[in-house]
Amino acid sequence: MKLSRSVSAEVVAFCASAYFVCVLNIPFWQQLYAAVAPRSLFEFAFIGAVGLLAFALLAWLFVCLAVRYVFRPVLSILLLATSAAVYFTMEYGTVFDADMVRNILETDRAEAADLLTTKLIIFVLGLGLLPVAVLWSYEIVYRPVWQGIRFKVLATLATAAAVLAIGLPFSQNFTSVFRHHRGLTYALMPVNYLSAMAEIGRKSLRPARAELLPFGGDARRRVDAAAPSARSVTVLVIGETARAANFSLIGYGRQTNPQLAKIPDLITYSKVFSCGTATAQSVPCLFSGMARANFDRQDALAREGLLQILQRAGFSVLWRENQGGCAGVCRGIPIELMDRAGTRSLFEMGESLDENLVKGLQQKIDAMPGHAVVVLHMMGSHGPSYYKRYPADFERFKPACKESQFSRCQRQEIVNAYDNTIVYTDFVLARLIELLRETDKTGTPASMIYVSDHGESLGEGNVYLHGLPYAIAPDVQKHVPMLVWLSPMAQAQNRIDGGCLARSRHEPLSHDNFFHSVLGLLRVNTSVYDHKLDIFAPCRAAGVGDED
Ligand SMILES: [Zn+2]
Repeated sequence: MKLSRSVSAEVVAFCASAYFVCVLNIPFWQQLYAAVAPRSLFEFAFIGAVGLLAFALLAWLFVCLAVRYVFRPVLSILLLATSAAVYFTMEYGTVFDADMVRNILETDRAEAADLLTTKLIIFVLGLGLLPVAVLWSYEIVYRPVWQGIRFKVLATLATAAAVLAIGLPFSQNFTSVFRHHRGLTYALMPVNYLSAMAEIGRKSLRPARAELLPFGGDARRRVDAAAPSARSVTVLVIGETARAANFSLIGYGRQTNPQLAKIPDLITYSKVFSCGTATAQSVPCLFSGMARANFDRQDALAREGLLQILQRAGFSVLWRENQGGCAGVCRGIPIELMDRAGTRSLFEMGESLDENLVKGLQQKIDAMPGHAVVVLHMMGSHGPSYYKRYPADFERFKPACKESQFSRCQRQEIVNAYDNTIVYTDFVLARLIELLRETDKTGTPASMIYVSDHGESLGEGNVYLHGLPYAIAPDVQKHVPMLVWLSPMAQAQNRIDGGCLARSRHEPLSHDNFFHSVLGLLRVNTSVYDHKLDIFAPCRAAGVGDED
């Protein structure tokens, strides 16, 4: 079909740039306006200069893309993707950096379905599909190849000159505003998510190894006369999106931990900070043996971590999964997926409730020989559909938001639904401890460590969910609960002084402590263990410490 109307590729590039700057970057302008809070004419001019610069850079990007057979499909994808991104930014305050984009790429279908709302569809139809339809209703006229290349070179030079001319008079404003409001760097669409994808692509280009690099190869389980048990059970619970601020055990005004509060020998650490603000960052970090300061996700996933070390040292290891996956840390470890575990009775709205992790756990433990380590990966408080995380009788705080589209709920309703997820997590953990207490009574020392992967924003500063870049993330996304329960036999055999642990509960800790504390608790000798990061080390009686 020959289209009657035609337009040159360059005009399309300019129009597209104007559309991106004026319409698809409304969240960026809101943030910039709030950051600058202009009072003088010069400050208003600065905002104008940012607009001109954004226009010049995007126009240049689109002119470079203006190649026959490439331009229109790519521009269509960018329009659709950006319209969805604008929705997430406006609805949840989502920031599109590399970690967030990776999170999106790793999101499973059920989680994605939660995010699919009518409002999202309206955004994509109105802001994305409509301009795409206009784009395809014209015939685009391209320059001949050499002329096109010449034009792109000239456009590059002109853009560089324009950037200097517009940017130099305001260089002071640029440095101060973008340094103090680092979120702005991630706000300009589509540069934000494109550069994030480029970063992910660059990292994944590193050759993939079939085998994990060895780490902690010298690990041995220490055997000493004081701890003759041939058997022990340790459960590591990786929580999801539980924030310390909403745990009554850590001072929250609402009773969100009614069951755990009744367990006298439970230690609640009150000042624990996460390694990342998203699962894809925090979970690999927890098991990596790398501190947050020098954590590199790619490097961590290429080498063995805590679970592989434990398995090699002779422990029976099992990962019970109630989420999308183990974020790459369970390679070579037996995995049990809850959604295929056949415990349908606890499925609500098509998703597996966390109680399934404890149901049937006893049989699983019984089938594991020797010293057993089980990881329970919870669904916890995964948003935005908090109301799907708990059964109806756990709706303690009402009214609870029953929408994944937050703009349809009052903020208090969202908080209510979130708090109900914590009440349910409290119940699941209390049941787990009950099970472990029984284990102890049968002569097997048992222990539990629970830690959440990251926190959550619940509308503070109009930000929801999590995943903000660590440097700009508020504490509620990083301050997480960590709980430790050691059975009487586990305390005795490890010669750990429970009173000492209880006194240390307000020490500042982080995910950095997890790897080393687990090794310490399980009496694993290895050169990669650092006793300074082991929370149990200061409370362990002399003689059980460093000697072999
Ligand atoms: Zn998470």
